[in-house]
Amino acid sequence: MSTASGDSPILLRRSLESGRIHSAYLLSGPGAAPQDAALDFVRALVCRQPDGPCEECVDCRRSSPGEPIPLDGAGSKGPLLRHVGDHADLFWVERGEGSTRVSIRQIRALQNALHLRSTEGGRRAAVIADAEWMNQEAQNALLRILEEPPPQTTLVLATATATGLLTTVRSRCQRVRFEADPAAAQQDPERIAMRARLDGIATAGIPELLDWAAEYRGARATVVGGVETLLETASLWMRDRVADAVRDTAANVTHELDAFSTLNDCRKTLSQRNANPQMVVERALLALRESTLR
Ligand SMILES: [Zn+2]
Repeated sequence: MSTASGDSPILLRRSLESGRIHSAYLLSGPGAAPQDAALDFVRALVCRQPDGPCEECVDCRRSSPGEPIPLDGAGSKGPLLRHVGDHADLFWVERGEGSTRVSIRQIRALQNALHLRSTEGGRRAAVIADAEWMNQEAQNALLRILEEPPPQTTLVLATATATGLLTTVRSRCQRVRFEADPAAAQQDPERIAMRARLDGIATAGIPELLDWAAEYRGARATVVGGVETLLETASLWMRDRVADAVRDTAANVTHELDAFSTLNDCRKTLSQRNANPQMVVERALLALRESTLR
């Protein structure tokens, strides 16, 4: 796990340097980066050195993450939340072992913990990892904490995608985005497989595309990340096609550009909470096929 403070993105670093700490941050992006940065950031908030975490002061020794205790969203097989290391003022919430959700009980437990006075009178902070896995109830409970944050308290939401979060939750957070490493993304087997399927889209029949879209049937929170990946991969795939086409100066890329703008619309639609991910995929795939047929 990275503890190199130099890795923290600029907004977090600036917050620490200026001492102007917001009450909520939303860190989003692929892989482990958002959670690693969240951990680093909350540890830096309690570190006694200016450029923490220094790993040497008493707070850093307390907040040093050991083997994490598995959580349980029902609070029966394990705790609802845990401390970071054994630091009394740092909390960590994530999905319980084997559960698909961050439960409302976990958010309520966090709220209670944050309303108790800080042990040292200093800053308190909590990380909600897996923030995209909060259902609406849990998000509404979280919203109440965001609306009236206890003094000296900072919440850090870490998520692969912010799309599943309520707009009211998102708007109360300082956003920090982590970009996918393009080199790593090209190596990603899921994206490689998607591109291969897209290569065959011109000869695919409509029923085949509908079957493809049906793979994204199901609860929004579970499928939305996959749809985002598909739309992103499709945009890159289109970009490469346009780049190939414009090498031939006589090429007309109007249809490709139409498909591009449909993909953008699809992304916007997907970010609305009542959007049906399967239908978004249907629209995107049909537009992509259309663009290859002319
Ligand atoms: Zn320290």
